[in-house]
Amino acid sequence: MSLTNVIEVLEAAYPPARAESWDAVGLVSGDPAQEVRRVLFAVDPVAAVADEALEWEADLIVTHHPLYLRGTTSVAATTPKGRLIHTLIKNDVALYTAHTNADVANPGVSDALARAVGLVDDLVPLQPFPDDPWRGLGRIGELPSEMTLGEFAAQAAKGLPRTPGGIRVAGDLTRPVTRVAVSGGAGDSLLGTAKAAGVDVFLTADLRHHPASEFVESGGPALIDAAHWATEWPWLESAASILRSSGVTVETRVSATVTDAWTRGY
Ligand SMILES: [Zn+2]
Repeated sequence: MSLTNVIEVLEAAYPPARAESWDAVGLVSGDPAQEVRRVLFAVDPVAAVADEALEWEADLIVTHHPLYLRGTTSVAATTPKGRLIHTLIKNDVALYTAHTNADVANPGVSDALARAVGLVDDLVPLQPFPDDPWRGLGRIGELPSEMTLGEFAAQAAKGLPRTPGGIRVAGDLTRPVTRVAVSGGAGDSLLGTAKAAGVDVFLTADLRHHPASEFVESGGPALIDAAHWATEWPWLESAASILRSSGVTVETRVSATVTDAWTRGY
């Protein structure tokens, strides 16, 4: 398969036009005409992931996070990002990013997160696009039966890949929960939307003290704060399976390298 063929499948699932205006998605490095046999899916384009790609002899890495979000004037191997670009080009490994266009897709990043933490049946966007009620940021879904916040937190921790920081819960652990909102990655911009939606608990990542404290004090849903990497990792298999079922003959692998910034909790 050529890289062009693979990109066509990815862009049908994750149309770049749906990415936020500040985002940088699409092909970062690589020749569209090059052959692709093995595709590695990872959250972050970092050195450990490039090493994994070389070891497995991948031809393409698909990441969620962009390498250069704010642009650059140099790819010299004098910075970690420039070094990464050198490693990839020297070894004929292409790099492709699906970021906010994967967040809002159907199925997208938050669908995979919702399933990983145990939500069942139909999922609807927490913040749907005005022109498409089935696409948008976050997802709302239901648990198969009511459980306590503490039980749900334990289930979510089990369903997500382990990270040193684990997950944190804000709210009364005995509070009953059935209706759950989730958003992969940093979801504090959706706090107000989750409250207005009347869910029992909102699970996301990167929540800060003041917004979280004020949210809980105001009688909003309970909060669960997971590791950023862990909330987006479940999407990797979803994207890989879309590629495999599209008819393109490539081998896929989901990176198990934990690239969350936090390496240890005490
Ligand atoms: Zn993210």
